[in-house]
Amino acid sequence: MTANASAAAALVNKQFRLPEGYAPKELVYPDIPFTFSEKIDKRKLRKEAAEALEQLVAGAAKDGIKLAGVSGYRSESRQKTLYEGYVKKDGVAAADKYSARPGHSEHQTGLAIDMSGIDGKCAAESCFAGTPEAEWLAEHATDYGFIIRYPEGKEDITGYKYEPWHIRYVGVELAAKLAESGDTLEEHYGGAVPVSGGN
Ligand SMILES: [Zn+2]
Repeated sequence: MTANASAAAALVNKQFRLPEGYAPKELVYPDIPFTFSEKIDKRKLRKEAAEALEQLVAGAAKDGIKLAGVSGYRSESRQKTLYEGYVKKDGVAAADKYSARPGHSEHQTGLAIDMSGIDGKCAAESCFAGTPEAEWLAEHATDYGFIIRYPEGKEDITGYKYEPWHIRYVGVELAAKLAESGDTLEEHYGGAVPVSGGN
């Protein structure tokens, strides 16, 4: 089995990187609230993920939960700038716990987005855990094809601390499968399916 870099189920992590300079096709602006107003890259997602996210945010609103986007697509060069800044500030070991190296970020796929409540409180911070917004996402994201990519208690498998705000589109079918098995994407693939070149 091989995985294409543009597949909704692509595995991108600390071990497997995207092809050099990879940029997804069909990046669009999802029609949802964001915690900022500028029309910039981090507002974008791949079309199929954007459409699913619009449904998710509308579904949450029906339950009285107001969600907003914090950070979606990120280019490899942007990730490089961010990562190098974190290393300068906290050192390599600490930076690797919360940030991906360039080419290794799910945000570069255009299929992942950090979410928060509409007030932007605790955006991409551990205090987001346990909020009604985080609980809603944990319970319902799967219905829309998203997974909580870095769950609690799986830090040694994903390589990341618990990130209740980072959701990753994998498609409804795979999301349901993972919800049932409780597997991370790494466990699903046995850690063995990198993305391959091409688009
Ligand atoms: Zn994220």
